[in-house]
Amino acid sequence: MTTDRVAIIGSGPAGLMAAEVLSEAGVVVDVYEAMPSAGRKFLMAGKSGLNISHTGSEHDLLMRYHDYSGLFPDQIGAFGPDQVTRWMEGLGMPAHVGPTGRIFPQSMKASPLLRAWLRRLADRGVRLHLKHRWTGWAPDGALTFHSPEGEVMVSPAATVFALGGGSWRRLGSDGAWASLFDQAGIDVTPFKPSNCGFTVDWSDRIRERFAGAPVKGVQLSAGGQVTREEFAVTARGVESGGVYTLSATLRDEIDAAGSATLWLDLLPDMDASEIAKRLAAAPAKQSLSNRLRKALKLTGVKAALLFECADREALNDPARAAEAIKALPLRLTGTVPLDEAISTAGGVAWEALDDQLMLKARPGQFCAGEMIAWDAPTGGYLITACMATGRAAGRGVLEWLKR
Ligand SMILES: Cc1cc2nc3c(=O)[nH]c(=O)nc-3n(C[C@H](O)[C@H](O)[C@H](O)COP(=O)(O)OP(=O)(O)OC[C@H]3O[C@@H](n4cnc5c(N)ncnc54)[C@H](O)[C@@H]3O)c2cc1C
Repeated sequence: MTTDRVAIIGSGPAGLMAAEVLSEAGVVVDVYEAMPSAGRKFLMAGKSGLNISHTGSEHDLLMRYHDYSGLFPDQIGAFGPDQVTRWMEGLGMPAHVGPTGRIFPQSMKASPLLRAWLRRLADRGVRLHLKHRWTGWAPDGALTFHSPEGEVMVSPAATVFALGGGSWRRLGSDGAWASLFDQAGIDVTPFKPSNCGFTVDWSDRIRERFAGAPVKGVQLSAGGQVTREEFAVTARGVESGGVYTLSATLRDEIDAAGSATLWLDLLPDMDASEIAKRLAAAPAKQSLSNRLRKALKLTGVKAALLFECADREALNDPARAAEAIKALPLRLTGTVPLDEAISTAGGVAWEALDDQLMLKARPGQFCAGEMIAWDAPTGGYLITACMATGRAAGRGVLEWLKR
């Protein structure tokens, strides 16, 4: 039986924002969630500080989104950092802007924000159906769910799918929806890891002595993109910070060529001629390690990376050593497994959606969040886009209900 209720499937930031828009307009909303509690990935994102958005002009913001299609400007333009900040304040959670423009709730954690958000939604009558896994469409088009009470079928007036990407499956976003969409003839592009770590064929020395070491005060570049952020060496490669920022470029290079080069500038505040001058002035009887330490304060993991990636002979020549320090090539051999990526690129193709995020093949059914094929670095851009598309899908449903 078709009801006048609206179904939202997925209780991440995209689904909850769609629920917010609809319940605010007086629409009766049911949120279905496969897991035993809501917003698990959102909570995980807030574990070490919920970076919910990022300051910057609309143009700067949009430039962060890869494959964003012509639709994105409307959504992010209407719900960008200012609106996210005001929205948080509305929940009694003032924002804190970090030194690089990252926006966090002052409490830093996601849990108080999520609690306040769920409370407000419940007060507006939004019903949360936990342990309800969407399993597809019945032949008559009804949504089917697997629940503790058995198979459940609903035929809502409209639906918002907000099922997330394909990583961190233990938090619920297992990407299983992609094959259901595919079987229904909806264009879904394959998931790819994003904001992910990469593998490196490290020597035993790096693996044994420096796994887990943060590499600070460096500049990273790949494919013409440059960032000045730290990253971490791991037993199998590199991850976090600047590596995530450059991950889309590095991943695409690996897809095309089988490996990628991450260029490191170990001393971004010193030019090559000064480095060469200081090395040349160091007493020749000192060991290379001592010259690097005394002349340039290059020690620990940074010195180890230099020995690992540069031609050892060249390091004895001040000019060539300076070149290596300023542009050290680190060869990446692959990405870490998809499930370990912070986010995934790929998902529902923009071409499958109209400009209100409604599935062209399924009128009255909308998509939002990471399940749509866009890609962005960490820094708050992911959650901002999830909320912006959740809001756009919610508004799309309101238009649909008016027709
Ligand atoms: C460790 C970590 C740190 C992160 N840090 C940040 C950060 O600081 N800033 C940032 O912007 N982003 C961060 N992210 C990414 C961000 O959390 C995600 O991009 C965001 O949560 C995606 O929101 P969403 O609503 O699209 O999907 P999700 O949050 O993944 O929610 C989708 C929901 O759908 C449910 N679901 C899936 N399939 C079904 C089904 N068949 N039936 C019913 N329910 C289903 C899932 O259980 C899940 O609850 C981080 C991610 C991780 C893993």
